Amino acid sequence: MKKIQMVDLQGQFEGIKEQVNHSFGSVLESAAFINGPEVREFQKELEEYLGVKHVIPCANGTDALQICMMGLGLKPGDEVITADFTFAATVEVIALLGLTPVLVDVEENTFNIDPKAIEKAITPKTKAIVPVHLFGQCANMDVILELAEKHELFVIEDNAQAIGATHTFANGNKQKAGTIGDVAATSFFPSKNLGCYGDGGAIFTNDDDLAHTLRGIVNHGMYKRYHHDVVGVNSRLDSLQAAVLRAKLPRLDEYNGKRREAARSYSKAFADQPNIVVPETVNGCDGICDTCDCHVFHQYTLRILNEKRDKLVQHLNENGVPCGVYYPIPLHRQKAYRDSRYDEADFSITNRLVNEVISLPMHTELDDEQIEFITKLIIDFVNP
Ligand SMILES: *Cc1c(COP(=O)(O)O)cnc(C)c1O
Repeated sequence: MKKIQMVDLQGQFEGIKEQVNHSFGSVLESAAFINGPEVREFQKELEEYLGVKHVIPCANGTDALQICMMGLGLKPGDEVITADFTFAATVEVIALLGLTPVLVDVEENTFNIDPKAIEKAITPKTKAIVPVHLFGQCANMDVILELAEKHELFVIEDNAQAIGATHTFANGNKQKAGTIGDVAATSFFPSKNLGCYGDGGAIFTNDDDLAHTLRGIVNHGMYKRYHHDVVGVNSRLDSLQAAVLRAKLPRLDEYNGKRREAARSYSKAFADQPNIVVPETVNGCDGICDTCDCHVFHQYTLRILNEKRDKLVQHLNENGVPCGVYYPIPLHRQKAYRDSRYDEADFSITNRLVNEVISLPMHTELDDEQIEFITKLIIDFVNP
């Protein structure tokens, strides 16, 4: 059996090696390292793939989130609602900009932000909602858009984990993740579904004026060379990273398809296990369907119900199976983000999930033999 890896970027590289080496050679020879043609071409290709009017490449996903909030003109004192159960980048940029983060609980079946908790947290100071499409499927965008409209709030999608996913609305309409709210941020960190070989990120929007503002902010607030109209940042995607992304983008659907295939095999093996809850796919699809990209499985995350999660992590590691706990501590309990306004009773789901979740190896190169080995190891340990 091949060595099992959490993410297998070497295996994936084999399939694009020639193309990437060739593009790298061209970039090196042209010396157009910053804002070169590779970046512009990638931008256009991603706009086309997503069906969105504007893609603004930048240096990483965290910058992308920050620049979205700067572009929308959010000001210190404005409250921004986001999920308690996610990676810290989302809440970090809210705090960095002097905005007030308002963390709320998630839904236990999807791990995504709970619209009921959002509604409860809205005050006259609330200016934006940041749904994180966690682990590869969209948050409940039907209700989130309704709330945003009713209370005149911006919706900033954190799409770092769900690029290529399709959201199906209650009325049957379909839209790609990251093209639904006012603006979206994504990350091309190497292990993301569309990852480069270093840091990278992008912002998506259909709003022409906002896109113009954002393009200035990523480039020191310059709209005309050496004229600085607003306070900006330096946040660029470089040409070598764009070349990698151009090789991978045409394969993104195939890559996500392989992830879904692995997820289907996992979920089939774990069906009927009393102490194991497999990830639930919603968005108008029952189970993990073959025909649409409802869930792109950035992570395949189980819940282990009989308090054996930590021992299972140890058991897997001892048997050569890497795994991850995303995320072990709720953001509202992190030192940097504690706030006396928070009431533990409002975070009952997150507080439970942090002790139950375990993410299994998930990438484009998993084979049946590896999945069988992993699932048997888990089932024998959890339900001996
Ligand atoms: C990865 C990630 C980010 C940050 O992206 P970077 O490119 O690492 O800065 C933000 N939000 C979520 C949900 C992520 O998974």
